[in-house]
Amino acid sequence: DPTRVINLSAGPCALPESVLHEACQGLINFNGTGIGIAEISHRSPEFVAYIKDVQHLIRTQLDVPQTHSILFAQGGGALQFSVVVLNLLARHRLLHPDLPESERVLDYVVTGWFSDLAIKEAKRLGGGRVHTVVDARAHSPVGKFDNIPPHAAYTFSPAPALIFYCENETVDGVQFSDGADPTAPTSFPFHLLPQDKGLLPLVGDYSSSFMSRPIPRLAEHAVIFASAQKNIGPAGVTVLIVRNDCLPDPDAAAALGAQPVPGTLAYKTLADHASLYNTPAVFAIYVVGLVLRRLHALGGVAAVDAVNRRKAAKLYEAMGEGARKGLLKARVEEGKGRSLMNVVFDFNEKEVQDRFAAGAVERGIKGIVGHPLVLGTRLSIYNAVTEEQVDTVMAYMRDFFAQL
Ligand code: PMP
Repeated sequence: DPTRVINLSAGPCALPESVLHEACQGLINFNGTGIGIAEISHRSPEFVAYIKDVQHLIRTQLDVPQTHSILFAQGGGALQFSVVVLNLLARHRLLHPDLPESERVLDYVVTGWFSDLAIKEAKRLGGGRVHTVVDARAHSPVGKFDNIPPHAAYTFSPAPALIFYCENETVDGVQFSDGADPTAPTSFPFHLLPQDKGLLPLVGDYSSSFMSRPIPRLAEHAVIFASAQKNIGPAGVTVLIVRNDCLPDPDAAAALGAQPVPGTLAYKTLADHASLYNTPAVFAIYVVGLVLRRLHALGGVAAVDAVNRRKAAKLYEAMGEGARKGLLKARVEEGKGRSLMNVVFDFNEKEVQDRFAAGAVERGIKGIVGHPLVLGTRLSIYNAVTEEQVDTVMAYMRDFFAQL
């Protein structure tokens, strides 16, 4: 569609055009029911079958074992910052009813804006004791979130109730490496985690990298969550992958003194009702299903991973040229955990940055201004941004640098 631009927004962001056309049709008539997807009951047999298929598409493409449930929630990734704390503290209470609060430790790996929000939320909720495993700002020459810290810096607690990390920091452009090489300095240090017979309370925020590549050591996670509006759909639905020992009965835990968990926020409620306890985000789940079917047809996460690597390499290459000319500075240096999804840099002068953004719009490229709180330039290249579009962006960057 020639009226559409190259959308590099950090989220909500580009969706595949073919999916948008299918979704238009689904709004009129969902799967031949004669009812549009925004009008159909979430309890209709057609939608119940559809949501099962979406779960199946996630399970098969990410190799999710039967030990884990796939659930759909609302409230975004941000609500999960609270929800994981409530549920995993309830689980810990059931496992260890008599421990003093100070020994219910919540471990946080803080590598950027979102994990920092998560740790602040844990402190606000006030159950247990919050421990900072590592804070990447302490490992930055400028005190910023611009790196994955060295493995030696992590101090995990021996038996925490929760261990939180964010796999891709959308604002800062910092990401753990893919796990293929566990000794890589930017990999998540799985080997340093306490040994816990496979029942570690490990929580990964995958909001901005979900389905962009395989998830390393997925089976060892207690909870993986991802709001949809980056790689897999519109805003409104959050995908959860929860190990089945992490579906505690909140009422039983509350009877032992744990904080009550609102019914709609208890993982057990979602699991017991196959994510249909109350009305889910029907339309958002529908579009997620369309995106994942298309992804499956294209070869799944492994195939898209290869494309995503090439896309990121191209933009970092162009960015490096600008840096060598002294025009801009990368937020994250090479080897420090550069994100494959969000490429972030700062022009030396604000005036140049504004011209770069304005020139991009003239070329049909939008959504490149950084997060309002950290500014800069951010190019987000989630799954639906094509390699051809990235080539256009790269050419624009080179042209712009050349005329400075
Ligand atoms: N975590 C990460 C890594 C994110 O990128 C975002 C959203 N940008 C969130 C959490 C919060 O998600 P939501 O806005 O859906 O609440």
